[in-house]
Amino acid sequence: IKITLTPIQRSGQKMVGLIAVLQDVTEEEKLDRRRKEFVANVSHELRTPLTTIKSYLEALDEGAINEPELAKRFLSVTLQEADRMARLIQDLLHLSRLDAKQTRFNKKPTDLRRMLEKVVERFSVPCQQKEINLKLHVIEPLPRVYVDRDQMDQVMDNLLSNAVKYTPEGGTITVRARRRSDGSAEVSVSDTGIGIPKKDLARIFERFYRVDKARSRSMGGTGLGLSIAKEIVQAHGGQIGIDSEYQRGTTVYFSLPPCEPEVVR
Ligand code: ADP
Repeated sequence: IKITLTPIQRSGQKMVGLIAVLQDVTEEEKLDRRRKEFVANVSHELRTPLTTIKSYLEALDEGAINEPELAKRFLSVTLQEADRMARLIQDLLHLSRLDAKQTRFNKKPTDLRRMLEKVVERFSVPCQQKEINLKLHVIEPLPRVYVDRDQMDQVMDNLLSNAVKYTPEGGTITVRARRRSDGSAEVSVSDTGIGIPKKDLARIFERFYRVDKARSRSMGGTGLGLSIAKEIVQAHGGQIGIDSEYQRGTTVYFSLPPCEPEVVR
């Protein structure tokens, strides 16, 4: 709270009163702190791969280029890091367009089951490679929902790629859909992976918040996947949440409001 005190006095006379203005600046300061933190995070996340790229290029320049085996390995690291930077920038641009409400949502009545079947199909190969059992469980009847397919595919891709990343071989991922009693649809992605400690859960949708930075980076994560998913779900009028038990598994779920009855016709 900011307090401003202004004395009340007639010219040249002694003070007859005091005006105290109490201003709640906590929200403002919180926002300001978040913004600064965000900029610091972006700078750090971009600098890290750049430093790696630079040091490998220097090593090549200083002679490694003459050793074909070594040169090839160094180039591949360089490319990998450049890819990471590109991914990060793509995610940042996506977020900033969502923030600025510049994303044009092309929402259409959508058959959720069909959409989820396609998502599961897309992830069947990465799951097979990791010997993860991927299941789809739909409870009919589902309401029809209004969805921008590209954006919703991005949500599902983010949730499923996390599930694959953080679930060890032999685990199970289950995609579920059902109708809630309020008529909305609920979609969830559950895994039997490493889980998230309770203390981290409340902040997990924050930009760049990660339980284990090193692990996320080594998996190619940008730390923005869940925050992008949250923005997109909210732009659809839905809500997103997470349940997790450390070393047991994680479920991310979100709701989507049903199509207005007259729109369905
Ligand atoms: P990242 O690119 O790091 O995966 P996200 O925003 O998608 O970024 O997720 C933020 C963090 O939440 C991750 O770094 C990880 O610590 C945790 N997380 C997300 N999904 C899962 C999951 N299915 N299982 C365990 N941890 C998860």
